[in-house]
Amino acid sequence: MLVIASANGAVGIEAAMQVLRDGGSALDAVEAGIRPVESNPADHTVGYSGLPNLLGVVEVDASIMDGRTLQAGAVGAVQNCEHAISLARKVMEELPHVLLVGSGAERFAKEMGFPETDLLTADAKAIWAEIFDTKVPSGCQERMAYVESIRRYAKLAADPERPNETVNFIARDARGNLATGVSTSGWSWKYPGRLGDSPVIGAGNYADNRYGAAACTGRGEMAMRLCTAHSVVTYLKLGMTLEAAGRAATAELGYLVDPYFGRVSLIAMDARGNHAGFSNGPDATYVYMTDDMRIYAEAPRIHVAAGGAGRRL
Ligand code: ASP
Repeated sequence: MLVIASANGAVGIEAAMQVLRDGGSALDAVEAGIRPVESNPADHTVGYSGLPNLLGVVEVDASIMDGRTLQAGAVGAVQNCEHAISLARKVMEELPHVLLVGSGAERFAKEMGFPETDLLTADAKAIWAEIFDTKVPSGCQERMAYVESIRRYAKLAADPERPNETVNFIARDARGNLATGVSTSGWSWKYPGRLGDSPVIGAGNYADNRYGAAACTGRGEMAMRLCTAHSVVTYLKLGMTLEAAGRAATAELGYLVDPYFGRVSLIAMDARGNHAGFSNGPDATYVYMTDDMRIYAEAPRIHVAAGGAGRRL
């Protein structure tokens, strides 16, 4: 049994492993691992205390995928929902759909009995306001001013401690089933209604018991354009090793022409439980825990320098 996660998943990885030890499924484990991250007020990239969008409103995205059945559920641009990962799972289990967004997802959350939680904390608001009030010209809610401003200030709007995150979890249970979960408050200061890779199956999340699983963090628009998580699984299907598959999917990012070219990081696992992390930027890590470990460990991600048309980080 094994759980891997992006580094900010450390607060939930032991809960996820406990679920597996108690006989729970890989799906149960990823949900249990992500919920504490969504509640962590110190993490400004996921759930409660996530950084808001351009208008100062927190909109969260999440997805979950079952590698045994290839069923998936996702929600995007949802307000006032602390546990978007659980809502994504409800979409998968209760509806004949994969992805719900905005007011439809909020209506479904109410029907499913999810409490309404104001996700914007004073802390996150202060980070947003500092940039918005002092550095951004007024009137930037309009498209042209937004585009101009975001070129210059988007990076500043992110949490200085953790400028690019989202939480990723992948679990492998006692029966060898894989599941993947992703939850995020998205790109801070994003245009309202923007979805990144996190709720898009194939872009930021993919799991297939037969071959493996992968999940992404970082500039979602890049992972969306290459279906990065699905690429890793496709390369595994074609017979590549996990390391070769992750390197190939990460290297491809370098061919994207993108004025906002940025970091994209992946965690990945193959069907046998080999695991690794990859990033097109330096110094990234991820965490992992097997059932014979008392505490989790942190490991470096393989740095794959982006070539091609993209900028090197
Ligand atoms: N991938 C997330 C998104 O694009 C953000 C991140 O991981 O930094 O919404």
